[in-house]
Amino acid sequence: MSSSSELSVLYEIASLPFETTESKICELVMDKLIRVFLANRCAIIKLLNKKPVKNYTYGFKSGTDVYKFIQQKEDHVFKYPLTNGILFAEKKVPFTAKQLKYLIILADRLNEILLMLVAKKLEQESKDIKTIFKTIPDPLIIIDEQHKVLEVNQKTLDMTHFSKKEALSTIFHERKEISPESRQAIKEERFLNSKNPLEIYTTLDNQLMCLEINATKVKFKGKNAFLLIFRDVTKRKEIDRLKSEFISLTSHQLRTPASGIKWMCELLIKGRVGKLKPKQQDLVGDINKFNGRMIRLIDELLNVAVIQNKKTKVLKAKFPIRPLITEVINDKIKLIKKGKIKINLITKLKDIKVYADREKMRQVFENLIDNGIKYSEKNPSINIGWKINNKKEVEFKISDNGIGIPKTEQSEVFNAFFRAKNAAKLDVTRSGLGLYVVKTIITALKGRIWLKSEVGKGTTFYFTLPMA
Ligand code: ADP
Repeated sequence: MSSSSELSVLYEIASLPFETTESKICELVMDKLIRVFLANRCAIIKLLNKKPVKNYTYGFKSGTDVYKFIQQKEDHVFKYPLTNGILFAEKKVPFTAKQLKYLIILADRLNEILLMLVAKKLEQESKDIKTIFKTIPDPLIIIDEQHKVLEVNQKTLDMTHFSKKEALSTIFHERKEISPESRQAIKEERFLNSKNPLEIYTTLDNQLMCLEINATKVKFKGKNAFLLIFRDVTKRKEIDRLKSEFISLTSHQLRTPASGIKWMCELLIKGRVGKLKPKQQDLVGDINKFNGRMIRLIDELLNVAVIQNKKTKVLKAKFPIRPLITEVINDKIKLIKKGKIKINLITKLKDIKVYADREKMRQVFENLIDNGIKYSEKNPSINIGWKINNKKEVEFKISDNGIGIPKTEQSEVFNAFFRAKNAAKLDVTRSGLGLYVVKTIITALKGRIWLKSEVGKGTTFYFTLPMA
């Protein structure tokens, strides 16, 4: 490109009337400026205070890079607007004074456009938020990082009967209508960065309500904020309560006759009421086996019902974790001797004390280790380890080399009665309650649980517990 054509383009752009539409300026500046100057492998330098500084802030090799820069670093541009800067194209042959003059004008224009684009983006963002606010029928609140309420939608005001003024500028976790436990849970902040919703209890219109909150990071008026979406799950909770009451009642009633059958089978098998023929002995053995399975299922149901009714509170105490895990592993030793099963506790780890319910934790480890064994087709190998996160919590890890859990089903494994298809094929006798119980225990102990799994390679369960 000859210098006269560069100049003519410069002139064309620089002499555009100020009111030229933004898109026109954009088009011309982006297209022509970049093509003319940067296709020649020029560098672009951000200069501060109108004085050219020697060291590059940014260097670009081609026009495409500049496009990328503008698209990707808009935040950065916004943080450090080039208000006092100029756009400077460096060539082997120095620019003439006239070219430089145009370049400075261009830089100012480009600068203006960048700011306009940023302002437009912000405006679009706030429009998006406003649209969300208008269209979503659930209560919505925007809070900042300190939990100060920045915005609420009409549905929130309708539900709480607050005026907008009353609702704004208060601190969300200090709202008196939220139960003290829920306020504490909100204050702990973890839910803001968690994928799992937080359940809170609140009294509105003299009625206790259960709300589920999902938090999403948003920009509000250019600042980091969180959009809280509330869902009223009071009815669902009530149905859950009725369901578990029903399960509890029926399983209690089923337990008695099932225990009776077990007792009678044992009498028959032991020959206390006369010797059985081998065929009869076999059949009674089978009845006993199937009945045993039914008893195990009833017990699991009872366990769930007890947990759901919150009849058992977790009893927290400080205790070292290693002896407990060793006990659980030793209990499995019989099994290990029979088959080729390995359970390794990573020995180098220092023992630590946790603040939890020892018996419940035994149940957690038993369930997770059992699953690792159960859902492996050959030679199961289970590794157990832990580490400390931020001096605050212990993170446990239990991994196996089993069949894995398909990606599409992973989010459901903690739901009661859920069983993945590959597991159901391998072992038809299970109930799908173990992980539900495990998650309930970990949550009651103020921990978190999640998993990583790949079909055919294995599964790792992770969970945390507060440090003692
Ligand atoms: P259950 O083992 O009685 O089916 P769980 O609640 O313990 O119930 O597990 C639920 C489901 O999660 C299982 O049916 C299985 O699909 C899957 N699962 C759990 N642990 C593992 C594991 N270690 N490997 C593969 N799948 C697993």
